Amino acid sequence: MAVAKNGKRPADRSSTPPGTDPHQGAAHAGAFGCFEQGSSGRLSPDRLLNVLRRTGILPDDPRIAETVANLDRARPAPPPAEPWLLAAEEFAAATQRNRGIIERAARGELAVPDFPALVADLQRIYQEVRADRRGAVAAYIPQLARVDADQFAISVCTVDGQRFSIGDADVNFCLQSVSKTVNYCLTLEEHGPDTVHRHVGREPSGQGFNELTFNKAGLPHNPMINAGAIMSCSLIQRGLDAADRFDFVADTWKRLAGGRGVGFNNSVYLSERNTADRNFALGYSMRERGAFPSGTDLLATLEFYFQCCSIEVDAQQLAVAAASLANAGVCPLTEDPVFSARTVRHCLSLMSSCGMYDFSGEFAFTIGLPAKSGVSGALMLVVPQLMGIAIWSPRLDAHGNSVRGIEVCRGLVDCYNVHTYDLLTGTGAGSGKRDPRLRRQQSAIEGIVGLCFAASQGDLNEIRRLTACNVPLGAADYDGRTALHLAAAEGHRDIVEFLLSMGVDPQPVDRWGGTPLDDANRFGHRELVQLLADATGTDLAGR
Ligand code: GLU
Repeated sequence: MAVAKNGKRPADRSSTPPGTDPHQGAAHAGAFGCFEQGSSGRLSPDRLLNVLRRTGILPDDPRIAETVANLDRARPAPPPAEPWLLAAEEFAAATQRNRGIIERAARGELAVPDFPALVADLQRIYQEVRADRRGAVAAYIPQLARVDADQFAISVCTVDGQRFSIGDADVNFCLQSVSKTVNYCLTLEEHGPDTVHRHVGREPSGQGFNELTFNKAGLPHNPMINAGAIMSCSLIQRGLDAADRFDFVADTWKRLAGGRGVGFNNSVYLSERNTADRNFALGYSMRERGAFPSGTDLLATLEFYFQCCSIEVDAQQLAVAAASLANAGVCPLTEDPVFSARTVRHCLSLMSSCGMYDFSGEFAFTIGLPAKSGVSGALMLVVPQLMGIAIWSPRLDAHGNSVRGIEVCRGLVDCYNVHTYDLLTGTGAGSGKRDPRLRRQQSAIEGIVGLCFAASQGDLNEIRRLTACNVPLGAADYDGRTALHLAAAEGHRDIVEFLLSMGVDPQPVDRWGGTPLDDANRFGHRELVQLLADATGTDLAGR
């Protein structure tokens, strides 16, 4: 993945200049071999693009732009009677500059290896949640009240730039409070956390997002509520004029979202400004307390805040921006290091504790992931080091969160082990959860291999841990050997007792017809012979 764990720019894998890589020929021919070819031993370019699409690498991905252009140029016109196929050398030439991402996709090495399974789950969740018509659109300004309430989009982007969208994913909506995340990041990048937090706290307020309340130091409680976000606006690029400050923020969103420009809804902005008594009250109150940096122009700051709320994106862009946060600040599609990893860490921490209005504690409990919502019905969810998800559906619940947005989050956490503390409870059969980071079957295989290894080594602690992760204790390897066989053969009485107490089958048969009792016998573990004979009701005298 393109993670810059230390905040450094990751190696640019997708654009190695031709002729500079010593492994070029051999390794690249390997990628060709990863794609299924016809009997001709040649590869259809359309098949190449389809396989990439299935892994989530879409044709408009900048990391395969040259390959797409090369194929377009090489495509025979008029189309030949026979299917157009590429030989290995033609494939290598066409894909040369993008081969990093193409090889990783072909080998199933991207962040979510079984991407079609994720797509199928998102499609199912979308259909289930679509029926939910609870809630009401925000009505404090006519521009939001008029939005078609039924619109609904889910968009995902992994830290390797695998993308999928469903629903109204190309319809623009305004960021509203989701803008607070990026503005906070910008203040951190410019001033560092010490200076920023001389002006804004980092505790949940326990109050409504626009409540007239401040912390004991007279500062806004945190940057994710209105007062704190107004404070962020006072800190961003103070030396620039209003137009350049806005461009700076809009350009940051563009970079986070993969390079496609964002919009601006002027009527939302004008309406926000005209109905902003509460935000003005927050601003004056903070000024009275001396909370702003000296020399702050309050009116300009508030207007800047309304403008940021009125920036428009679609769900696809918001998902890529969320994936940039998941990827430690580096955009997965362009590898542009927009924010440092440290900045993103701070922002995700506050999104986790304060990002979902008065529902933040409940959201942290049930979903366990950093997120930020806005009154337009936007919800940005971040699964660190894995993916970003954008959900947009305008009907809101009593807290101001998108009703369907919350339901999609629930659906995801129900089927994947992405809640931060799922790492304690694992995946395994009983949890009903899968690990999206694994290849198909990988978790089951690893569980069984780990179990058999722990049984042979006498590592009861590890077996208890695997039990907690719901690894089936009676599972057998390819040879039909179970943990009980191995513990019996190696003479690990405590493990044999533990497995029997957990109710595993006491006489499984391996591919050579052997049972654990046979193993205990063969290796002379007398006590275990007796134990297993008792457990299986075997008459030792008769053997
Ligand atoms: N522009 C809105 C306000 O300041 C933001 C509301 C929100 O999304 O939380 O009231």
